[in-house]
Amino acid sequence: MEDQPFWTQKTLNEMTNAEWESICDGCGLCCLNKIEEWDSGDIYFTSVRCKLLDSESCQCSSYPNRWDFVPDCVQLTKENVDDIPWLPPTCGYRLINEGRGLYWWHPLVSGDRETVHLAGISARGRTVDETDVDVDDYENYLVEWPLTVGDKAPKSLAAALKRQMKADRRR
Ligand code: SF4
Ligand code: SF4
Repeated sequence: MEDQPFWTQKTLNEMTNAEWESICDGCGLCCLNKIEEWDSGDIYFTSVRCKLLDSESCQCSSYPNRWDFVPDCVQLTKENVDDIPWLPPTCGYRLINEGRGLYWWHPLVSGDRETVHLAGISARGRTVDETDVDVDDYENYLVEWPLTVGDKAPKSLAAALKRQMKADRRR
């Protein structure tokens, strides 16, 4: 069991802070604006990104002091991960919390922070800045791709990446 990866052996609660942080795949999907239907409570993703989200790296551009600029930014914690209904189905925290495994493109599995982008999972290159969109127009930006679990990377790419990873491990 000792040689098994920690995320298959521990619950989120049992992880160290460093392990917890590494569960984030860097997709940036949680930083997209969502619309909640007032009567049903259903939540829909839009392609409108938070003004602090870098559209290419999918990282928060001001993470340590983000609340100075985005007071309603929600911090995901071990305590609230169960209560956040809008985590995308590919989110590492959601997957582990639901007792599922990480996908091949997760940086912990692939060893490469680019694979989440190469596999077409992340928000890279397909969002608009919230400062360019009137909040009343958000419904024109509804998208389903943040809910897509499927492997969008061409099979040849996935196979090539896996071959590369195996070769790297042998070195
Ligand atoms: S959706 Fe989950 S895995 Fe993706 S950036 Fe947000 S916290 Fe990280
Ligand atoms: S402030 Fe940063 S972490 Fe919070 S939603 Fe915006 S980009 Fe994401």
